[in-house]
Amino acid sequence: MRSISILGATGSVGTSTLDLVRRNRDAWRVTALTANTDVEKLAKLAREFDAEIAVIADDNCLVGLEEALSGSGIEASSGRAALCEAAARPADITMAAIVGCAGLGPVMAAIERGGTVALANKEALVSAGEVMTAAVEKHGATLLPVDSEHNAIFQCLQGERIDDVRWITLTASGGPLRTVQDLSAVTPEQAVAHPNWDMGAKISVDSATMFNKGLELIEAHHLFPVGLEKIRIVVHPQSIIHSMVEYRDGSTLAQLGPSDMRVPIASCLAWPRRMETPCSPLDLPKIGEMSFFEPDEERFPATRLAREAAAEGGAAPAVLNAANEVAVAAFLAGNLPFTRIAVLVENVLTRGNRPPAPQSLDDVLQIDAAARRRAEEFLENA
Ligand code: NDP
Repeated sequence: MRSISILGATGSVGTSTLDLVRRNRDAWRVTALTANTDVEKLAKLAREFDAEIAVIADDNCLVGLEEALSGSGIEASSGRAALCEAAARPADITMAAIVGCAGLGPVMAAIERGGTVALANKEALVSAGEVMTAAVEKHGATLLPVDSEHNAIFQCLQGERIDDVRWITLTASGGPLRTVQDLSAVTPEQAVAHPNWDMGAKISVDSATMFNKGLELIEAHHLFPVGLEKIRIVVHPQSIIHSMVEYRDGSTLAQLGPSDMRVPIASCLAWPRRMETPCSPLDLPKIGEMSFFEPDEERFPATRLAREAAAEGGAAPAVLNAANEVAVAAFLAGNLPFTRIAVLVENVLTRGNRPPAPQSLDDVLQIDAAARRRAEEFLENA
């Protein structure tokens, strides 16, 4: 029996992870489950999986959680420190599936325990960059990429030498707005309606703006040290090939699969072995054709901004991520037009003094907070 903690258990990745655990109930013991405010779902899951502890990030929700768990023997706690404490509890694998930089502290707590972390929470790695990779090294932790593209690359690199890599190709679906001519009037409903993937609201908007691919570029740069110039993005609307690695002899290895997050999640849960999933097999004749395009950075400047931030390094990726989080929240709340998301991010990135490169988790959190303040100012003056 193996133990698992799921940070962000009530979200899209958390739900897919628990679906796999549910199908292999005898193989898993659940240590910690966490959420932000969704007490009802968290308590239900904690009871179903007989979790050791359930943590709700919002302190105002603690009383509700305690009531919902009364008589179950499951511990209940709340707040940022409690999230980190839960993440630091021994577990064979920790699924890091909180959305945004809010997940950084708990991810670092799991890494500092020297655990195996399945990382879906890309914003944490984008913001913390070398601070996180250094902590992984120092504490002997293992980082397994959950993002379908990075999981694909990870699989294509098994048994290979990183110096033999000529190119890493990150595929991008292009999102729901790839062929929409007028982006100025795009609504949140249109932006979250992803053609291939069913995901949380924030990553769905990121897919529509292409910031998701930008964040993934930075994520890949940290996970696979081949050099930024060797990582390219190709739009592949069918989302069948999840990414590719080309080697110096001209061989290209690709990972293909259905657009179902349970495939990369299963790959992490079972790694280095394999496990069954209920995902439908690929029906290539039915798919028929696969197409590939260069990204259109005029209409979707996010990948250019991310590449510039990654090339600059230091604090820049954390600034980009924080500004994007504020912009996406404003867009979803109806307070920022779709096309202003990239404008806001570029504005925050290019104005004001850049803080020094972060050396610690606290430095990253300070950079994140300062960039959020600048983004909020932009919104007030917009
Ligand atoms: P969701 O919005 O569906 O879920 C987010 C989870 O994080 C929920 O459990 C939510 O709790 C919790 N949460 C939100 N805000 C906070 C906070 N401030 N503090 C603590 N917990 C919080 O997101 P997804 O599952 O879609 O994405 C999770 C991460 O995985 C993201 O980083 C995303 O980029 C990445 N990812 C997602 C994929 C997908 O298919 N969904 C694919 C690849 C990567 P509550 O329910 O209470 O709000």
